Amino acid sequence: KIPSFDYSPPPYTGPSADEILSKRKEYLSPAMFTLYSKPLNIVDGRMQYLFDDKGRRYLDAFGGIATVCCGHCHPDVVEAIVNQTKRLQHSTILYLNHAIADFAEALANKLPGNLKVVFFTNSGTEANELAMMIARLYTGCHDIISVRNAYHGNASGTMGATAQSIWKFNVIQSGVHHAVNPDPYRGVFGSDGEKYARDVEDLIQFGTSGNIAGFISEAIQGVGGIIELAPGYLPAVYSTIKKAGGLCIADEVQAGFARTGSLFWGFENHGVVPDIVTMAKGIGNGIPLGAVVTTPEIAAVLTRRSYFNTFGGNPVCTTAGLAVLKVIEKEKLQENAFVVGTYLKERLTALKDKYELIGDVRGRGLMLGVELVSDEKLKTPAKLETLHIMDQMKEMGVLVGKGGFYGNVFRITPPLCFTKEDADFLVDAMDHIIAR
Ligand code: PMP
Repeated sequence: KIPSFDYSPPPYTGPSADEILSKRKEYLSPAMFTLYSKPLNIVDGRMQYLFDDKGRRYLDAFGGIATVCCGHCHPDVVEAIVNQTKRLQHSTILYLNHAIADFAEALANKLPGNLKVVFFTNSGTEANELAMMIARLYTGCHDIISVRNAYHGNASGTMGATAQSIWKFNVIQSGVHHAVNPDPYRGVFGSDGEKYARDVEDLIQFGTSGNIAGFISEAIQGVGGIIELAPGYLPAVYSTIKKAGGLCIADEVQAGFARTGSLFWGFENHGVVPDIVTMAKGIGNGIPLGAVVTTPEIAAVLTRRSYFNTFGGNPVCTTAGLAVLKVIEKEKLQENAFVVGTYLKERLTALKDKYELIGDVRGRGLMLGVELVSDEKLKTPAKLETLHIMDQMKEMGVLVGKGGFYGNVFRITPPLCFTKEDADFLVDAMDHIIAR
């Protein structure tokens, strides 16, 4: 049963997906093409729903890659953006604007310890590039350690830290070392985080020049296939890195901003306090915005002469960010992510018990992954099977993402207003497709 929702998009008179592709395909980057066998042309969005050019509704269980945290076109966020757009759309380093300071203060108040100084960027990539640069400047060292299977962005530094073979080919990795990945499904060390952490000690001792600038990791790897770092891993690695004189960077681009439900930031689930926190995606609910937050002492390595950007702290984006924070609090979205996420994970786990095809269900809050078993057990390769199921789910009106080293993990990162009814609809659709 499709959950009820009372919004009908205005009539759409623009071109269809086929018309767009038949006339203008040559102008579009090949990386943009849809994964679906029949391309989808999305023209409207409201909360957890998207609408295509024919007015057909889809439950958006991918949330624009864990970005739309309050819901598509949330009225409070739209109103804040429109009001700010009418007053001032851009500001530069020449003058102040309260929108930047308001959001910087609100963000700092959400973080533990002395994490107070905020640098704004436009994306997660830029935030991580800046964080690594700060770590290098502060320590005077060059080497960065990231965790295998991580994704940190698509500029050259972050792509080096993005520890997946397909992206590693794109760059010359300079000074980046990849620690063993704690894969909970096939991992050799199971869930023993401290054993994995010893790999970082070895890397520092034998693999690097010993000049450690920092360690960067997600609390739950998103693109890597929803892999939660093993318990005990982060505390052990953080203490090793600190002893070696490096800084610890938490990439909260996906797991931050209430997504994991129980706590506001992903790293808090591991009981650690990073030196630098990076964020993007959810903080703007779809508006391009990222941030790096660090302590005043560390932030002092950057001066106006050494670092600035044109759009970082754009007043429209930071106004959107402030509205997002208010919505999360007003609508208790963190609590909702916990309650609905727990329910959804239980239902997906029951599906795993029912079907051999599902090898693993994992994640926290509304950041969940369903991994299909490895290829030898399947008629078609797992990656194709994943795409095939995604395609059929789309036909039934549900959009999920995909990820993982083998491309065989469904990523479920919906807007945090997702309901139990939505969760049921998603699981029932998956059940129906796998059964046939
Ligand atoms: N870090 C993580 C954990 C991400 O998931 C992503 C994007 N998928 C990035 C960084 C890069 O962010 P952006 O695409 O905004 O540059």
